[in-house]
Amino acid sequence: MNKKNISDVALDGLRGRTVIVRADLNVPLDAGVITDDQRIRASLPTLQRLAGAGARVVLLSHLGRPKGQVDPAYSLEPVATRLNELLEPAVHFIPHTGGGEASEALEALGPGEIALLENTRFVPGETTNDPALAASWAALGDLFVNDAFGTAHRAHASTAGLAAAMRGKGGEAVAGLLLARELEFLEEALRLPERPFVAIVGGAKISSKIGVVSALLPRVDRLLIGGAMANTFFRALGLGTGDSLVEEDSIGVARELLEQGGERLVLPVDCIVAREIAPDAERRPVERSEVQPGDRILDIGPRTRELFAEMVGAAMTIVWNGPMGVFEIDAFAEGTVDIAHAVATACDAGAIGILGGGDSAAAAERADVMDRLTHVSTGGGASLELLAGADLPGVDALTDRSS
Ligand code: ADP
Ligand code: MG
Repeated sequence: MNKKNISDVALDGLRGRTVIVRADLNVPLDAGVITDDQRIRASLPTLQRLAGAGARVVLLSHLGRPKGQVDPAYSLEPVATRLNELLEPAVHFIPHTGGGEASEALEALGPGEIALLENTRFVPGETTNDPALAASWAALGDLFVNDAFGTAHRAHASTAGLAAAMRGKGGEAVAGLLLARELEFLEEALRLPERPFVAIVGGAKISSKIGVVSALLPRVDRLLIGGAMANTFFRALGLGTGDSLVEEDSIGVARELLEQGGERLVLPVDCIVAREIAPDAERRPVERSEVQPGDRILDIGPRTRELFAEMVGAAMTIVWNGPMGVFEIDAFAEGTVDIAHAVATACDAGAIGILGGGDSAAAAERADVMDRLTHVSTGGGASLELLAGADLPGVDALTDRSS
């Protein structure tokens, strides 16, 4: 990575210095209770390093989509409580996003302590990347650490804007440990992949993943398509898909990708169909050419599972995004679980296996293979953008290594 990260910053110079950290603490909440604290945990190493070096850490994050106004349902206070349980240094919650009241409260912040400000999206200028808002945050310190990979694909005031404002006033903007690790795996491992390089793309919406498929296609040895995505490709082949989820608008693009990909693009040869998406629905394995009117394709079939597992088993680099079926229901989870095991087994044998996507991560968790994979990306949208070769504004705005 040609951007500076926190490892390039001398730790002994941090004592008593105010460092602004943008993390991705956007955790799922149910009536104020955090239901999954993975993102909080993923943010700890950067916070520990800075606090451990005696920095005064001002922490920023968004939570949910409160639409530019204060909404108590999206307060970061429960996140501060959880941080306090997980971290040694004290974490203070400041119920302001900035301004005079926040500055006043920050005066009491000691070296090695952390202050979490209120949800950045409580102010309208956050998502419009208002330079004045960004400058007000940059004014709080002289070093900015962006560790929010999950929002790196958006130019918001607390990400790209704050980095630009910090550099504009002569300070530095660097990547945190989590962001640096994401970039290392997703960017650098893909630049010169060890071959065979196999990508697996599934999930529901083909239109949101066309970019990834077309960017990966020329670079991989095989691109395996599963999930509802495959249905749109079936239609491009002229096959019937019954009542399956299909994006009619994308059939043309699917046809182009089939032409462009040739043998590299591998579609399922059979599928599991049912009449309804329900746990007790009768499921039938059928050839992909035998899907009947009224059928719904809900998983890849047994022959496809074998075919995909074989191709994954031969790979040295694997990128996986999107489940192979409606894995939330046991009856349609087999394809996804098999792929998860195949990727994990390849990783055990020395392959690099990278998983991106929120639902895919949930599927891998369910298949109990999380710790066998080389890297599980925390940012759904951001990892897709990066895999598709797009620039991430939150990263572009950071200080270059050479400068
Ligand atoms: P990720 O979050 O890993 O990027 P997506 O959000 O693209 O994955 O897709 C996940 C969703 O796709 C899951 O909820 C799953 O049930 C759904 N899905 C997968 N295959 C099918 C299918 N054949 N028909 C309907 N939905 C499907
Ligand atoms: Mg998803």
